[in-house]
Amino acid sequence: MRYVSTRGGGEPQRFSDILLEGLALDGGLYVPEEYPQVSSGELSAMRSMAYPELTFALLSKFMDDIPAGDLRRMVNGTYTKEVFGTDEIVPVKKLEQGLYLLGLSEGPTLAFKDIALQLLGRLFEHTLAQRNEPLNILGATSGDTGSAAEYALRGRKGIRVFMLSPIGRMSEFQRRQMYTLSDPNIFNIAIRGTFDDCQDIVKALNEDAAFKKRYKLGAVNSINWARIAAQIVYYFWACVRVARENGEPDFAVPTGNFGNILAGYIAKRMGLPIRRLILATNENNALEEFFKTGVYRPRKGSEVAATSSPSMDISKASNFERYVFDLVGRDVGRMAKLWSDLKENGYFDVSKAGEFARLAEDGFVAGSSTHADRLATIRAFHEKYGVLIDPHTADGVKVGLEHREKGVPLVCLETARPAKFAATIREAVGQEPPMPESFRKLANMPEHFEVLPPDNEAVGAYIARRIA
Ligand SMILES: *Cc1c(COP(=O)(O)O)cnc(C)c1O
Repeated sequence: MRYVSTRGGGEPQRFSDILLEGLALDGGLYVPEEYPQVSSGELSAMRSMAYPELTFALLSKFMDDIPAGDLRRMVNGTYTKEVFGTDEIVPVKKLEQGLYLLGLSEGPTLAFKDIALQLLGRLFEHTLAQRNEPLNILGATSGDTGSAAEYALRGRKGIRVFMLSPIGRMSEFQRRQMYTLSDPNIFNIAIRGTFDDCQDIVKALNEDAAFKKRYKLGAVNSINWARIAAQIVYYFWACVRVARENGEPDFAVPTGNFGNILAGYIAKRMGLPIRRLILATNENNALEEFFKTGVYRPRKGSEVAATSSPSMDISKASNFERYVFDLVGRDVGRMAKLWSDLKENGYFDVSKAGEFARLAEDGFVAGSSTHADRLATIRAFHEKYGVLIDPHTADGVKVGLEHREKGVPLVCLETARPAKFAATIREAVGQEPPMPESFRKLANMPEHFEVLPPDNEAVGAYIARRIA
Protein backbone atom coordinates (compact mmCIF):
# COMPACT_ATOMS: atom_id res chain seq x y z
CA MET A 1 0.00 0.00 0.00
CA ARG A 2 1.34 3.39 -0.96
CA TYR A 3 0.03 6.89 -0.30
CA VAL A 4 -0.23 9.84 -2.67
CA SER A 5 -0.93 13.54 -2.14
CA THR A 6 -4.31 15.01 -3.12
CA ARG A 7 -2.40 17.74 -4.96
CA GLY A 8 -0.44 15.24 -7.03
CA GLY A 9 3.08 16.25 -5.92
CA GLY A 10 5.96 14.11 -4.64
CA GLU A 11 6.60 10.38 -4.81
CA PRO A 12 4.20 7.78 -3.37
CA GLN A 13 5.08 6.99 0.26
CA ARG A 14 4.73 4.02 2.59
CA PHE A 15 2.54 4.20 5.68
CA SER A 16 5.43 4.59 8.16
CA ASP A 17 6.74 7.54 6.19
CA ILE A 18 3.49 9.48 6.39
CA LEU A 19 2.53 8.48 9.93
CA LEU A 20 4.36 11.33 11.63
CA GLU A 21 3.72 13.90 8.88
CA GLY A 22 0.98 16.49 8.69
CA LEU A 23 0.42 17.86 5.21
CA ALA A 24 2.32 16.52 2.20
CA LEU A 25 5.07 18.85 0.97
CA ASP A 26 2.81 20.20 -1.80
CA GLY A 27 0.17 21.19 0.77
CA GLY A 28 -2.11 18.23 -0.02
CA LEU A 29 -3.26 15.37 2.19
CA TYR A 30 -2.12 11.78 1.87
CA VAL A 31 -4.62 9.17 0.66
CA PRO A 32 -4.16 5.50 -0.29
CA GLU A 33 -3.23 5.00 -3.94
CA GLU A 34 -6.26 2.73 -4.10
CA TYR A 35 -8.76 1.44 -1.58
CA PRO A 36 -8.27 -2.20 -0.64
CA GLN A 37 -11.36 -4.31 -1.43
CA VAL A 38 -13.09 -6.61 1.01
CA SER A 39 -14.76 -9.70 -0.43
CA SER A 40 -18.13 -11.05 0.69
CA GLY A 41 -16.31 -14.03 2.15
CA GLU A 42 -14.17 -11.69 4.26
CA LEU A 43 -17.25 -9.75 5.31
CA SER A 44 -19.03 -12.82 6.62
CA ALA A 45 -15.89 -13.91 8.48
CA MET A 46 -15.84 -10.47 10.14
CA ARG A 47 -19.14 -11.12 11.91
CA SER A 48 -17.51 -13.46 14.37
CA MET A 49 -14.36 -11.43 14.98
CA ALA A 50 -13.73 -9.59 18.25
CA TYR A 51 -13.03 -5.85 17.88
CA PRO A 52 -9.20 -6.11 18.05
CA GLU A 53 -9.19 -8.97 15.57
CA LEU A 54 -11.35 -7.00 13.13
CA THR A 55 -9.09 -3.97 13.59
CA PHE A 56 -6.02 -6.01 12.76
CA ALA A 57 -7.69 -7.57 9.70
CA LEU A 58 -8.53 -4.14 8.28
CA LEU A 59 -5.53 -2.08 9.36
CA SER A 60 -2.99 -4.60 8.10
CA LYS A 61 -4.24 -3.67 4.62
CA PHE A 62 -3.36 0.00 5.17
CA MET A 63 -0.27 -0.35 7.37
CA ASP A 64 1.45 -3.16 5.50
CA ASP A 65 4.98 -1.97 6.23
CA ILE A 66 4.57 -2.50 9.98
CA PRO A 67 5.52 -6.08 10.90
CA ALA A 68 2.30 -8.04 11.46
CA GLY A 69 3.33 -9.19 14.92
CA ASP A 70 4.01 -5.61 16.03
CA LEU A 71 0.72 -4.31 14.64
CA ARG A 72 -1.21 -7.12 16.30
CA ARG A 73 0.45 -6.42 19.64
CA MET A 74 -0.33 -2.68 19.44
CA VAL A 75 -3.95 -3.29 18.42
CA ASN A 76 -4.48 -5.88 21.16
CA GLY A 77 -2.97 -3.50 23.72
CA THR A 78 -5.24 -0.64 22.64
CA TYR A 79 -8.71 -2.13 22.33
CA THR A 80 -9.16 -3.63 25.78
CA LYS A 81 -11.95 -3.68 28.32
CA GLU A 82 -9.64 -1.81 30.65
CA VAL A 83 -9.41 1.16 28.26
CA PHE A 84 -12.89 1.11 26.66
CA GLY A 85 -15.04 -0.28 29.46
CA THR A 86 -16.43 -3.39 27.74
CA ASP A 87 -15.16 -6.32 25.68
CA GLU A 88 -17.24 -5.04 22.79
CA ILE A 89 -15.16 -1.79 22.78
CA VAL A 90 -17.79 -0.15 20.55
CA PRO A 91 -21.24 -1.31 21.72
CA VAL A 92 -24.07 -1.44 19.19
CA LYS A 93 -27.12 -0.40 21.25
CA LYS A 94 -30.54 -1.23 19.84
CA LEU A 95 -33.20 1.35 20.74
CA GLU A 96 -36.06 -0.16 18.79
CA GLN A 97 -36.47 -2.22 15.63
CA GLY A 98 -34.19 -0.65 13.01
CA LEU A 99 -32.72 2.11 15.21
CA TYR A 100 -29.28 1.87 16.79
CA LEU A 101 -26.74 3.98 18.69
CA LEU A 102 -23.11 3.12 18.04
CA GLY A 103 -21.16 3.75 21.25
CA LEU A 104 -17.95 5.46 20.14
CA SER A 105 -17.38 7.36 23.37
CA GLU A 106 -16.51 4.69 25.93
CA GLY A 107 -12.78 5.55 25.98
CA PRO A 108 -10.78 7.44 28.63
CA THR A 109 -11.88 10.97 27.61
CA LEU A 110 -15.47 9.97 26.79
CA ALA A 111 -15.37 11.07 23.13
CA PHE A 112 -14.98 9.26 19.84
CA LYS A 113 -11.49 10.64 19.18
CA ASP A 114 -10.12 8.19 21.75
CA ILE A 115 -10.75 5.28 19.40
CA ALA A 116 -8.16 6.45 16.89
CA LEU A 117 -5.85 8.38 19.20
CA GLN A 118 -5.32 5.53 21.66
CA LEU A 119 -3.89 3.47 18.81
CA LEU A 120 -2.02 6.43 17.35
CA GLY A 121 -0.02 6.80 20.58
CA ARG A 122 1.32 3.27 20.18
CA LEU A 123 1.99 3.67 16.47
CA PHE A 124 4.00 6.84 17.13
CA GLU A 125 5.98 5.16 19.92
CA HIS A 126 6.77 2.18 17.68
CA THR A 127 7.90 4.23 14.68
CA LEU A 128 9.98 6.62 16.78
CA ALA A 129 11.73 3.72 18.50
CA GLN A 130 12.62 2.20 15.13
CA ARG A 131 14.09 5.48 13.99
CA ASN A 132 15.66 6.13 17.34
CA GLU A 133 14.15 9.62 17.36
CA PRO A 134 12.21 11.59 19.97
CA LEU A 135 9.15 13.72 19.19
CA ASN A 136 7.70 16.66 21.08
CA ILE A 137 4.04 17.23 20.41
CA LEU A 138 3.08 20.89 20.69
CA GLY A 139 -0.62 21.69 20.62
CA ALA A 140 -3.32 24.12 21.69
CA THR A 141 -6.72 23.10 22.99
CA SER A 142 -9.94 24.74 24.04
CA GLY A 143 -10.68 21.60 26.00
CA ASP A 144 -11.47 18.40 24.14
CA THR A 145 -8.80 17.49 21.63
CA GLY A 146 -6.04 18.25 24.12
CA SER A 147 -7.22 15.72 26.64
CA ALA A 148 -7.71 12.99 24.01
CA ALA A 149 -4.13 13.56 22.81
CA GLU A 150 -2.71 13.57 26.35
CA TYR A 151 -4.50 10.34 27.30
CA ALA A 152 -3.21 8.74 24.11
CA LEU A 153 0.41 9.78 24.60
CA ARG A 154 0.86 9.64 28.38
CA GLY A 155 3.72 7.37 29.32
CA ARG A 156 4.71 6.72 25.68
CA LYS A 157 8.48 6.43 25.28
CA GLY A 158 10.25 9.03 23.20
CA ILE A 159 7.28 11.40 23.22
CA ARG A 160 6.56 14.54 25.22
CA VAL A 161 3.37 16.56 25.02
CA PHE A 162 3.28 20.33 25.51
CA MET A 163 -0.38 21.36 25.55
CA LEU A 164 -1.43 25.00 25.75
CA SER A 165 -4.85 25.81 27.16
CA PRO A 166 -6.54 29.12 28.06
CA ILE A 167 -6.62 29.45 31.83
CA GLY A 168 -10.10 29.74 33.32
CA ARG A 169 -11.84 29.16 30.00
CA MET A 170 -12.36 25.42 30.04
CA SER A 171 -15.17 23.55 31.78
CA GLU A 172 -14.31 22.02 35.13
CA PHE A 173 -14.63 18.62 33.51
CA GLN A 174 -12.13 19.46 30.79
CA ARG A 175 -9.68 21.09 33.17
CA ARG A 176 -9.65 18.21 35.62
CA GLN A 177 -9.35 15.65 32.90
CA MET A 178 -6.17 17.25 31.57
CA TYR A 179 -4.50 18.76 34.61
CA THR A 180 -4.77 15.74 36.90
CA LEU A 181 -2.43 13.74 34.66
CA SER A 182 0.86 13.28 36.45
CA ASP A 183 2.89 11.45 33.81
CA PRO A 184 6.35 12.98 33.48
CA ASN A 185 6.00 13.30 29.68
CA ILE A 186 2.86 15.48 29.86
CA PHE A 187 3.26 19.26 30.23
CA ASN A 188 0.10 21.33 30.68
CA ILE A 189 0.72 24.99 29.98
CA ALA A 190 -2.08 27.28 31.17
CA ILE A 191 -1.90 30.50 29.17
CA ARG A 192 -3.22 33.76 30.60
CA GLY A 193 -5.22 34.46 27.44
CA THR A 194 -7.69 33.01 24.98
CA PHE A 195 -7.68 29.86 22.86
CA ASP A 196 -6.66 32.03 19.89
CA ASP A 197 -3.62 33.23 21.84
CA CYS A 198 -2.69 29.59 22.45
CA GLN A 199 -3.04 28.76 18.77
CA ASP A 200 -0.98 31.79 17.74
CA ILE A 201 1.88 30.69 20.00
CA VAL A 202 1.85 27.16 18.56
CA LYS A 203 1.85 28.59 15.06
CA ALA A 204 4.71 31.02 15.79
CA LEU A 205 6.93 28.34 17.35
CA ASN A 206 6.27 26.00 14.41
CA GLU A 207 7.16 28.75 11.95
CA ASP A 208 10.52 29.19 13.65
CA ALA A 209 12.23 26.49 11.55
CA ALA A 210 15.39 26.38 13.67
CA PHE A 211 13.43 26.00 16.90
CA LYS A 212 11.14 23.39 15.38
CA LYS A 213 14.07 21.29 14.16
CA ARG A 214 16.17 21.62 17.27
CA TYR A 215 13.32 20.64 19.59
CA LYS A 216 11.77 18.10 17.20
CA LEU A 217 8.29 19.57 17.28
CA GLY A 218 5.37 17.63 15.87
CA ALA A 219 1.59 17.49 16.10
CA VAL A 220 -1.35 15.10 16.29
CA ASN A 221 -3.52 16.59 13.57
CA SER A 222 -7.07 15.74 12.66
CA ILE A 223 -5.72 15.11 9.15
CA ASN A 224 -3.44 12.30 10.32
CA TRP A 225 -4.14 9.35 8.03
CA ALA A 226 -3.79 6.72 10.76
CA ARG A 227 -6.70 8.31 12.61
CA ILE A 228 -8.95 7.94 9.57
CA ALA A 229 -7.84 4.33 9.08
CA ALA A 230 -8.63 3.40 12.70
CA GLN A 231 -12.10 4.95 12.34
CA ILE A 232 -12.96 2.79 9.32
CA VAL A 233 -13.08 -0.22 11.65
CA TYR A 234 -16.21 0.70 13.60
CA TYR A 235 -18.25 1.13 10.43
CA PHE A 236 -17.43 -2.49 9.57
CA TRP A 237 -18.10 -3.56 13.16
CA ALA A 238 -21.58 -2.01 13.19
CA CYS A 239 -22.55 -2.75 9.61
CA VAL A 240 -21.91 -6.50 9.68
CA ARG A 241 -23.96 -6.76 12.88
CA VAL A 242 -26.91 -4.62 11.80
CA ALA A 243 -27.07 -5.71 8.15
CA ARG A 244 -27.42 -9.40 9.03
CA GLU A 245 -30.76 -8.75 10.72
CA ASN A 246 -32.10 -5.86 8.72
CA GLY A 247 -30.32 -5.22 5.42
CA GLU A 248 -28.05 -2.34 4.38
CA PRO A 249 -28.02 0.42 7.00
CA ASP A 250 -27.83 4.21 6.85
CA PHE A 251 -25.31 5.90 9.16
CA ALA A 252 -25.97 9.32 10.73
CA VAL A 253 -22.73 11.14 11.54
CA PRO A 254 -22.26 14.38 13.56
CA THR A 255 -19.68 16.19 11.45
CA GLY A 256 -17.06 18.88 11.98
CA ASN A 257 -13.73 18.29 10.27
CA PHE A 258 -15.13 15.49 8.08
CA GLY A 259 -12.83 12.87 9.64
CA ASN A 260 -15.48 10.54 11.04
CA ILE A 261 -17.75 10.49 8.00
CA LEU A 262 -14.78 10.22 5.61
CA ALA A 263 -13.94 6.91 7.29
CA GLY A 264 -17.51 5.75 6.58
CA TYR A 265 -17.20 6.77 2.95
CA ILE A 266 -13.93 4.83 2.60
CA ALA A 267 -15.49 1.77 4.25
CA LYS A 268 -18.23 1.94 1.63
CA ARG A 269 -15.65 2.22 -1.14
CA MET A 270 -13.95 -0.88 0.25
CA GLY A 271 -17.12 -2.86 -0.35
CA LEU A 272 -18.97 -2.49 2.94
CA PRO A 273 -22.74 -2.45 2.21
CA ILE A 274 -23.55 0.98 3.66
CA ARG A 275 -26.62 2.47 2.04
CA ARG A 276 -26.34 6.16 2.85
CA LEU A 277 -24.08 8.47 4.85
CA ILE A 278 -26.21 11.10 6.56
CA LEU A 279 -24.04 14.11 7.31
CA ALA A 280 -25.17 16.30 10.20
CA THR A 281 -23.72 19.71 10.99
CA ASN A 282 -24.66 22.21 13.69
CA GLU A 283 -25.23 25.90 12.92
CA ASN A 284 -21.80 25.96 11.25
CA ASN A 285 -23.17 24.31 8.15
CA ALA A 286 -20.69 24.82 5.31
CA LEU A 287 -20.74 21.07 4.61
CA GLU A 288 -24.53 20.79 4.65
CA GLU A 289 -24.56 23.59 2.09
CA PHE A 290 -22.04 21.80 -0.11
CA PHE A 291 -23.86 18.48 -0.18
CA LYS A 292 -27.15 20.23 -0.93
CA THR A 293 -25.99 22.81 -3.48
CA GLY A 294 -22.53 21.84 -4.77
CA VAL A 295 -21.05 25.11 -3.50
CA TYR A 296 -18.34 24.85 -0.86
CA ARG A 297 -17.78 28.05 1.05
CA PRO A 298 -15.69 27.56 4.20
CA ARG A 299 -16.46 30.16 6.85
CA LYS A 300 -14.11 32.89 7.97
CA GLY A 301 -12.91 32.50 11.55
CA SER A 302 -15.13 35.43 12.56
CA GLU A 303 -18.19 33.74 11.01
CA VAL A 304 -17.89 30.59 13.09
CA ALA A 305 -20.63 30.46 15.71
CA ALA A 306 -19.87 29.16 19.22
CA THR A 307 -22.55 26.49 19.65
CA SER A 308 -23.64 23.93 22.23
CA SER A 309 -21.99 21.21 20.12
CA PRO A 310 -18.57 22.90 20.27
CA SER A 311 -16.47 20.07 18.81
CA MET A 312 -18.23 20.68 15.49
CA ASP A 313 -17.58 24.46 15.43
CA ILE A 314 -15.18 24.59 12.51
CA SER A 315 -14.58 27.06 9.72
CA LYS A 316 -12.94 24.74 7.22
CA ALA A 317 -13.36 20.95 7.26
CA SER A 318 -9.76 19.80 7.25
CA ASN A 319 -10.37 16.28 5.88
CA PHE A 320 -12.83 17.31 3.18
CA GLU A 321 -10.08 17.64 0.56
CA ARG A 322 -9.64 13.86 0.68
CA TYR A 323 -13.19 13.33 -0.47
CA VAL A 324 -13.05 16.05 -3.13
CA PHE A 325 -10.02 14.30 -4.63
CA ASP A 326 -12.18 11.23 -5.31
CA LEU A 327 -15.15 13.35 -6.34
CA VAL A 328 -13.15 14.84 -9.23
CA GLY A 329 -11.89 11.40 -10.26
CA ARG A 330 -8.44 12.12 -8.77
CA ASP A 331 -7.80 14.68 -11.51
CA VAL A 332 -5.04 16.90 -10.09
CA GLY A 333 -5.64 19.62 -12.69
CA ARG A 334 -9.25 19.87 -11.57
CA MET A 335 -8.14 19.92 -7.91
CA ALA A 336 -5.79 22.81 -8.66
CA LYS A 337 -8.65 24.71 -10.32
CA LEU A 338 -11.04 24.19 -7.39
CA TRP A 339 -8.43 25.19 -4.83
CA SER A 340 -7.46 28.30 -6.76
CA ASP A 341 -11.18 29.24 -6.98
CA LEU A 342 -11.36 28.78 -3.23
CA LYS A 343 -8.38 31.00 -2.69
CA GLU A 344 -9.50 33.73 -5.07
CA ASN A 345 -13.26 33.78 -4.49
CA GLY A 346 -13.68 32.15 -1.10
CA TYR A 347 -15.70 29.27 -2.57
CA PHE A 348 -15.80 26.63 -5.28
CA ASP A 349 -18.82 25.38 -7.18
CA VAL A 350 -19.41 21.92 -8.67
CA SER A 351 -23.18 22.35 -9.07
CA LYS A 352 -23.02 22.46 -12.85
CA ALA A 353 -20.43 19.71 -13.20
CA GLY A 354 -21.08 15.96 -13.55
CA GLU A 355 -19.50 15.75 -10.12
CA PHE A 356 -22.69 16.97 -8.49
CA ALA A 357 -24.59 13.78 -9.32
CA ARG A 358 -21.83 11.78 -7.74
CA LEU A 359 -22.55 13.14 -4.25
CA ALA A 360 -25.78 11.17 -4.16
CA GLU A 361 -24.21 8.15 -5.88
CA ASP A 362 -21.63 8.10 -3.09
CA GLY A 363 -24.54 7.89 -0.65
CA PHE A 364 -24.34 11.36 0.91
CA VAL A 365 -27.32 13.30 2.20
CA ALA A 366 -27.01 16.24 4.60
CA GLY A 367 -28.84 18.36 7.10
CA SER A 368 -28.19 20.60 10.10
CA SER A 369 -29.35 21.11 13.63
CA THR A 370 -29.74 24.13 15.93
CA HIS A 371 -29.52 24.58 19.69
CA ALA A 372 -33.32 24.21 19.96
CA ASP A 373 -33.21 21.01 17.86
CA ARG A 374 -30.49 19.62 20.08
CA LEU A 375 -32.48 20.24 23.26
CA ALA A 376 -35.65 18.78 21.76
CA THR A 377 -33.81 15.68 20.52
CA ILE A 378 -32.07 15.06 23.85
CA ARG A 379 -35.43 15.41 25.62
CA ALA A 380 -37.30 13.17 23.18
CA PHE A 381 -34.68 10.41 23.39
CA HIS A 382 -34.69 10.58 27.13
CA GLU A 383 -38.47 10.30 27.29
CA LYS A 384 -38.89 7.66 24.62
CA TYR A 385 -35.94 5.36 25.29
CA GLY A 386 -34.69 6.42 28.72
CA VAL A 387 -31.32 7.16 27.11
CA LEU A 388 -29.35 10.39 27.58
CA ILE A 389 -27.34 11.51 24.55
CA ASP A 390 -24.83 14.33 24.31
CA PRO A 391 -25.41 17.46 22.14
CA HIS A 392 -23.16 16.26 19.26
CA THR A 393 -24.88 12.89 19.11
CA ALA A 394 -28.18 14.78 19.18
CA ASP A 395 -27.20 16.71 16.02
CA GLY A 396 -26.64 13.40 14.24
CA VAL A 397 -29.83 11.84 15.60
CA LYS A 398 -31.92 14.86 14.60
CA VAL A 399 -30.75 14.81 10.97
CA GLY A 400 -30.72 11.00 10.89
CA LEU A 401 -34.37 10.75 11.94
CA GLU A 402 -35.34 13.35 9.31
CA HIS A 403 -33.91 11.04 6.66
CA ARG A 404 -35.05 7.78 8.18
CA GLU A 405 -36.83 5.47 5.75
CA LYS A 406 -39.16 2.62 6.49
CA GLY A 407 -37.45 -0.75 6.50
CA VAL A 408 -33.94 0.74 6.45
CA PRO A 409 -31.92 0.39 9.64
CA LEU A 410 -30.46 3.63 10.94
CA VAL A 411 -27.23 3.65 12.94
CA CYS A 412 -26.61 6.94 14.81
CA LEU A 413 -23.01 7.52 15.88
CA GLU A 414 -22.65 8.48 19.53
CA THR A 415 -19.58 10.73 19.61
CA ALA A 416 -19.44 11.84 23.26
CA ARG A 417 -20.90 10.98 26.66
CA PRO A 418 -23.45 13.44 28.09
CA ALA A 419 -21.36 13.92 31.24
CA LYS A 420 -18.98 16.10 29.22
CA PHE A 421 -21.70 18.63 28.42
CA ALA A 422 -23.66 18.87 31.64
CA ALA A 423 -24.98 22.41 31.12
CA THR A 424 -26.80 21.54 27.89
CA ILE A 425 -28.14 18.30 29.40
CA ARG A 426 -29.54 20.25 32.36
CA GLU A 427 -31.16 22.70 29.98
CA ALA A 428 -32.75 19.86 28.00
CA VAL A 429 -33.99 17.50 30.71
CA GLY A 430 -33.62 19.43 33.96
CA GLN A 431 -31.30 16.92 35.55
CA GLU A 432 -27.59 16.15 35.85
CA PRO A 433 -26.06 13.58 33.52
CA PRO A 434 -24.57 10.65 35.43
CA MET A 435 -20.87 11.16 36.20
CA PRO A 436 -18.73 8.17 35.29
CA GLU A 437 -16.74 6.70 38.14
CA SER A 438 -13.47 7.39 36.32
CA PHE A 439 -14.21 11.10 36.42
CA ARG A 440 -15.46 11.24 39.99
CA LYS A 441 -12.10 9.93 41.13
CA LEU A 442 -10.37 12.96 39.61
CA ALA A 443 -12.07 15.38 42.01
CA ASN A 444 -9.57 14.77 44.79
CA MET A 445 -6.45 14.54 42.70
CA PRO A 446 -3.81 17.27 42.53
CA GLU A 447 -3.67 19.30 39.30
CA HIS A 448 -0.40 19.81 37.43
CA PHE A 449 0.12 22.82 35.19
CA GLU A 450 2.41 25.76 34.61
CA VAL A 451 0.90 29.23 34.17
CA LEU A 452 2.58 31.35 31.49
CA PRO A 453 1.80 34.66 29.79
CA PRO A 454 0.63 34.68 26.15
CA ASP A 455 4.17 35.18 24.96
CA ASN A 456 6.06 33.13 22.36
CA GLU A 457 9.40 33.51 24.06
CA ALA A 458 8.16 32.50 27.49
CA VAL A 459 6.62 29.33 26.07
CA GLY A 460 9.65 28.61 23.89
CA ALA A 461 11.98 28.97 26.88
CA TYR A 462 9.78 26.67 28.99
CA ILE A 463 9.88 23.97 26.31
CA ALA A 464 13.64 24.33 25.85
CA ARG A 465 14.19 23.91 29.61
CA ARG A 466 12.09 20.73 29.81
CA ILE A 467 13.80 19.10 26.85
CA ALA A 468 17.39 20.03 27.64
C1 LIG B 1 -14.47 15.78 16.84
C2 LIG B 1 -15.89 15.54 17.19
C3 LIG B 1 -16.91 15.51 16.21
C4 LIG B 1 -16.64 15.81 14.75
O1 LIG B 1 -15.90 14.81 14.11
P1 LIG B 1 -15.11 15.14 12.75
O2 LIG B 1 -14.28 13.97 12.48
O3 LIG B 1 -14.30 16.38 13.02
O4 LIG B 1 -16.16 15.38 11.70
C5 LIG B 1 -18.20 15.23 16.62
N1 LIG B 1 -18.49 15.02 17.93
C6 LIG B 1 -17.55 15.05 18.88
C7 LIG B 1 -17.94 14.82 20.29
C8 LIG B 1 -16.22 15.30 18.56
O5 LIG B 1 -15.29 15.34 19.53
